[in-house]
Amino acid sequence: MRHYVGGGFDSSGVPLPLIDPTRGTVVGEAPSAPRELVDRAVGAAQQALRGPWATWSPADRARLLHRIADGIERRFEEFVTAECADTGKPRELASTVDIPRAVANFRSYADLLSGRGERSWHTATPDGRGALNYTVHKPLGVVAVISPWNLPLLLLTWKVAPALAAGNTVVAKPSELTPGTACLLAEVMAEADVPAGVFNLVHGGGADAAGQWLTEHPGVDAIAFTGESRTGGTIMRAAAARLAPVSFELGGKNAGIVFADADLEQAVAGTLRSSFTHSGQVCLCTERVYVERPVFDAFTEALAAGTRALRGYGPMVSAAHRDKVLGYLDKAAADGEVLAGGGTPRFSDDRDGGFWVEPTVLAGLPEDHPAVREEIFGPVVHLAPFDTEEQALALANAGPYGLAATVWTGDVSRAHRVAPALDVGIAWVNTWNLRDLRTPFGGVKASGIGREGGDHSLDFFSEPMNVCVKL
Ligand code: NAD
Repeated sequence: MRHYVGGGFDSSGVPLPLIDPTRGTVVGEAPSAPRELVDRAVGAAQQALRGPWATWSPADRARLLHRIADGIERRFEEFVTAECADTGKPRELASTVDIPRAVANFRSYADLLSGRGERSWHTATPDGRGALNYTVHKPLGVVAVISPWNLPLLLLTWKVAPALAAGNTVVAKPSELTPGTACLLAEVMAEADVPAGVFNLVHGGGADAAGQWLTEHPGVDAIAFTGESRTGGTIMRAAAARLAPVSFELGGKNAGIVFADADLEQAVAGTLRSSFTHSGQVCLCTERVYVERPVFDAFTEALAAGTRALRGYGPMVSAAHRDKVLGYLDKAAADGEVLAGGGTPRFSDDRDGGFWVEPTVLAGLPEDHPAVREEIFGPVVHLAPFDTEEQALALANAGPYGLAATVWTGDVSRAHRVAPALDVGIAWVNTWNLRDLRTPFGGVKASGIGREGGDHSLDFFSEPMNVCVKL
C-alpha cells in the first residue's frame, strides 16, 4: 500500500495493520502519512492547478474520466479482490455493485460534462443597446476528499469524479481501515496519464492524523466528506476557521413504512434487502420499520423467517464495530424481543476469529431506546406497529437524522402523499436503493449538508462567476 503524491508513489510513515474482517487476522499494512507528506500532497495539488490542467477543456476532462473508467474495468478482478479484502463483503456484492458503480461514477460525470453548457442573459439598458451576462464555472481549487470504510471505492469515486470533472485537483484520504482499492485507483490514475498533482492520495487516520491535517490545511479550498455525523461536526469546525465550503454525507437511522395495502411479499423481500445488504453497513440501510397494525404479525413473521434463512452475508468491518453492534443487541435483548439472530454465528472454522454478527430482527422496544434512535450501522432492524398514516409519518420523521426512507404501499395517491412528507433527502416507494446518478443524493438534519449527484455535485465543485459585457 502506497501514498500517491505529485505523480509519484511513496511509502513513508508509520505502518498501520490491515485486518481481514472475515477471520480477524493481520493480512498486511498501510503507511500512515506523516504531516510533511500531507503538506506535500496539498502543495502538489496547488501546483497542478497552475499547470497545463488549467487549460484542459471540459471535453479533455471528459476523455480523461473515460480513460480512468477504462482503467478500472481493465483491472476489474483486482479491484473486486481488494474491495473484499478491505471490507470482508461478499464477492458477488463487490462485483455487481461497488466496482461497476465506481466505473459508472467516472462515466456519468464524463457524459454530463459533455452536455453541460453555460447560461447567459441579455439585459436591457436605458440606451437600448443592452448588455450580455454570462456565467462561467471555475474550479474551487484543491479539494480534500475524505471517505469511509463501508463502500470505499464507490464513495471515494463518487466525489473524485465530479471534482476532477469540474477542473479541481484532489487530495484523497480513504478510511484507514480500507485503503486497498484507493491504492489501485492511484495506479489507474497514473496509467491514465492524469497530470502529476491532479490526483493525490494519502493514507492514515482521522484525528491527529492525515484526515485532521488535511481538513485544517490552509491550502485546501473545499472539503467533501462522507462519514459519521460527529466527524462531520469536527470537520466543519476545521473548515469554518477559513470559511472553506463543505459537502457532507453523514449518518442515518432510516425508516421504512409498510402499509396494509402493500404487496406484502414484495415489502418483506425489499426490507430484507434494505436492512441487510452489506450486513447493514450501507448508509441507506433501513434500521427501523413501522408496519400498519393489521399486517404487523404477518410481516413480522415473514421478515423474521426470511432473516433466519439469510446466507452468504459478510462480517462487520472491524472488531470495534462488531463490539459496538453487539452492545446494541445486548441492550435490546434486555429491553425488548429478539425475533431472529441477535448474536454471533458459529462456523467451526477460522471464520470464528472474524467480526461476524447475525442478521437480527428486534421488536417491542420503546422509540427512545438507543437501538431504535441511534445509528447502529449493522445487520439490525426494529419493527413497530402503527395505526394511522399521520402516526407513521410522525414516527418516521422523529429523531436527529434524515437520510433515506422506504414506503411500501399499493395505493398510488398515498405513495405521492407520504413520500414527499418524509423529512429525508431520498424516499423510495416499493423499492430501495434504485439509483439514477443524475438525481440529488444527500440527507437533511444530521444526515448531511448539500446534495451530490449529477449537476448537484458539479455545482458544489465549481464556483459560478458572472461576466457582464455592455453592448
Ligand atoms: P468516520 O466518520 O469514522 O470516518 C470517515 C472518514 O473520516 C475516515 O476516512 C476517517 O479517517 C476520517 N476522519 C475521522 N475523524 C476525522 C477527523 N477528526 N478529521 C478528518 N477526518 C477524520 O466514519 P466511518 O466509520 O468510516 O463510516 C461510517 C459512517 O459513515 C456511518 O455513520 C455512515 O452512516 C456514514 N456514511 C454516510 C453515507 C452517506 O452517503 N450519507 C455513506 C456511507 C457512510
